Amino acid sequence: MATKKKKKRVKRKLSSARRKAEKSNSGFEHPTIKAPEGIDFLRFQTDGIKRLDILPYVVKVGSDIAEVGEWHYEKTFYEHRIGANHHRYICPKRTIGKRCPICEEAARLQRDPDADPDIVKSLYAKQRELFYVIDNDEPEKGVQIWDMSYHLFGKKLDARIRNSDEDDNYDTFFDPEDGMTLKIGMEEVSLGQYTFYSAETIDFKSRKDSIDPELFEDLPSLDDLVKIEKYDKLKAIFHQEDEDDEDEEDEEDRLDSELAEIVSNDSSEDEDDDEEEDDDVEDDEDDDDEDW
Ligand SMILES: [Zn+2]
Repeated sequence: MATKKKKKRVKRKLSSARRKAEKSNSGFEHPTIKAPEGIDFLRFQTDGIKRLDILPYVVKVGSDIAEVGEWHYEKTFYEHRIGANHHRYICPKRTIGKRCPICEEAARLQRDPDADPDIVKSLYAKQRELFYVIDNDEPEKGVQIWDMSYHLFGKKLDARIRNSDEDDNYDTFFDPEDGMTLKIGMEEVSLGQYTFYSAETIDFKSRKDSIDPELFEDLPSLDDLVKIEKYDKLKAIFHQEDEDDEDEEDEEDRLDSELAEIVSNDSSEDEDDDEEEDDDVEDDEDDDDEDW
């Protein structure tokens, strides 16, 4: 039987469990996206149903999809994967219309009859989307950032909205007052040695409550989160990666899922996308903005 002891106060310098928890959770530094402080990236651990509320943000960089000042729900950006380790860099050309040394090299190789078409293709930028989300199964995590391949989710979401009836109101699903929760059936896909998650089904469910404006009103615009390197720096990195290819070890296990998306994108891109890419790499020459 335990004997009662008088509690003695011993002063120990405790580590901070919170600091540890926060570090383990957010220790991952994303190569191309700078997350606002305190906001983590959404990660999928298993397949199955995910219920996500997608939050709106204020557009700062206008496009033919959303104008400056509008509340929108996704930020489209393009990424190159370069070197043996497929390091990720934002494509300045396709993301913000500035010169991109990697697109230029792809265009050069495309004109070279001896170039390996697979290598040319591997240089093309891949389309991705960013979202602010609340995971309904883990609301305590608050707002998270979801960085996802367009081909594995957004394309299907676009199709669901395009094929809906007007009175379904799917097109305003991200309205914080009258919007809907996305119920996403995630499927685990294995391709070679890689496993990743892809949206198999997307359903729209009315929300019982509106979303507290405090959750999203002060969030930075998603337009401010993409890390875009200047032309000269990106060019130097690109050539360095090329040289390093032979002796580098693959150390980026956590990027395996994204790596798999490259393979998947390559096999799932439809004709339109390929045409778009072809157009893109051929019209590089007319941009002479030397800062990029
Ligand atoms: Zn590019």
